[in-house]
Amino acid sequence: MSNIVAIVGRPNVGKSTLFNRLLERREAIVDSTAGVTRDRHYGKSDWNGVEFTVIDTGGYEVNTEDVFQEEISKQVQLAIDEATSIIFMLNVEEGLTDTDYEIYEKLRRSNKPVYITVNKVDSAKEELAATEFYQLGIEEYFTLSSATGSGTGELLDKIVKDF
Ligand code: GDP
Ligand code: MG
Repeated sequence: MSNIVAIVGRPNVGKSTLFNRLLERREAIVDSTAGVTRDRHYGKSDWNGVEFTVIDTGGYEVNTEDVFQEEISKQVQLAIDEATSIIFMLNVEEGLTDTDYEIYEKLRRSNKPVYITVNKVDSAKEELAATEFYQLGIEEYFTLSSATGSGTGELLDKIVKDF
């Protein structure tokens, strides 16, 4: 069975930055049924020789308020439907929001493994600020800087181990 890792989260948290970092090659993004490009991107990656597919769920994100909620529910639903593992990305710069709680609630109810990652942790200062995310009621999170790649190794070690 193939392993499919989806990245979900609000716009601007850094999903595409992580996706591009993990990517080796892009796959076709044309939806064969509808004849239109899909609102997500697929790519192949591997970690220590273990291959997996990555989905960037916010492929063509439109960051306007009116489409925001609908877009996010769609992303979360497709992650639950298509993925075997889900990376839920949070942004330490913006902190915890109501939408984050809603997304997490949906993910929690799915029976998929969910890896909570706090992104934009570029320094020790943000590492400390990230502790606010314990308010989600979680026991563990991974801190990341998708921009530099720091923290991605620990996250991937864990995801691949659980495959
Ligand atoms: P998406 O909307 O969730 O796909 O987010 P993007 O990947 O497009 O990133 C949104 C913005 O955050 C861009 O300006 C990125 O350069 C920036 N960004 C992404 N990851 C990091 C990070 O680890 N640290 C910092 N400081 N900025 C980041
Ligand atoms: Mg994006």
